[in-house]
Amino acid sequence: MTDATAAVVREPGGDFTIETIAVEAPRAGEVRVRIAGVGLCHTDLIFRDQFAPFALPGVLGHEGAGVIEAVGEGVEGLSVGDAVVVGFSSCGACPRCDEHLPSYCQSFVPLNYAGMRLDDGSTAYASDGARVTSHFFGQSSFSALTVTRARNVVKVDTSNVALELLGPLGCGFQTGAGGVMNSLACPAGSSIAIFGGGPVGLAAVMGAVIQGCAAIILVEPIAARRAIATTLGATHVIDPGEAGDLAEALRAIVPAGLDFAFDTSGVVPVIEAGLAALGSHGAIGLVGVPAKADAAISVNIAALMTPGHRIIGIIEGDSDPQSFIPELIAHHAAGRFPFDTLIQTFPLDQINEAVAAQARGECIKVVLIP
Ligand SMILES: [Zn+2]
Ligand SMILES: [Zn+2]
Repeated sequence: MTDATAAVVREPGGDFTIETIAVEAPRAGEVRVRIAGVGLCHTDLIFRDQFAPFALPGVLGHEGAGVIEAVGEGVEGLSVGDAVVVGFSSCGACPRCDEHLPSYCQSFVPLNYAGMRLDDGSTAYASDGARVTSHFFGQSSFSALTVTRARNVVKVDTSNVALELLGPLGCGFQTGAGGVMNSLACPAGSSIAIFGGGPVGLAAVMGAVIQGCAAIILVEPIAARRAIATTLGATHVIDPGEAGDLAEALRAIVPAGLDFAFDTSGVVPVIEAGLAALGSHGAIGLVGVPAKADAAISVNIAALMTPGHRIIGIIEGDSDPQSFIPELIAHHAAGRFPFDTLIQTFPLDQINEAVAAQARGECIKVVLIP
């Protein structure tokens, strides 16, 4: 056991508390990573607030990056001192993992949400001898040290970018960029509307620029975020509060209808407007988690079928982190993916202040530094 400072959740919806926890040595097949920085994602707060179950006390955090400081038995290809991004968990042995679609791994839910090792139900963390939930997304990285399976880590080149900023490439940024580049695979010259200008939506804007989309429309209520989208390469921005009928506003820009729409908002009327604005054989990708678990859109079957519209649910941008994270870092090095400009860092012990600042819209992406 080694001591580490971590942000622990003890009460549903309560503040994070900064505590010293005990972290196990890595077991066979695992590595221990000293976290250099960890992104704060909306999903962490969904679990903190117990809209989805997570045994307390526990440690959240699923966008870690850091340096391997111990390697368990049987781990190949990884060494102490390697710089890594810690990604989501997948089994590596099911049909979807074989297809390089690990975010649809048949064991995705237990591996990422159970908060323990699946083989024996143990956790990697303890506090005064009592169990503390770990392994959230395989990592629980709101901690100076984490233990994760070797399969979760992606070795990265940090010659052009600070390691501490790379964690969100393992979730939020790969969801936005991957949604456009992998899932929708927008061809050059196509049109896309992106709903929501948070970290996922702005990564989608950058992905659309990389793909060579001709029309990139960002729909976002906060003026500062619309301005950032324009600097990143959005060709049009829409304030949904001013637009009136959103589908009509989109058709005013692309009269034949959109080739693609990409929703990061999870807001039902916005998704319905996106569907209504699609052109022939258009596709809408959905990554925004709705506020209510039973949120539903209504779809007229004939109106969907006749123009060949497609509605696509997307997790993690259909990314295989082992190849896609290095690809995004290469785009960054070439100046095409300036994700670091969206990040504001806070010390881990100011996590509650960072959550509040993000809720007020003062920062786009928070990275916490243990
Ligand atoms: Zn699998
Ligand atoms: Zn996330």
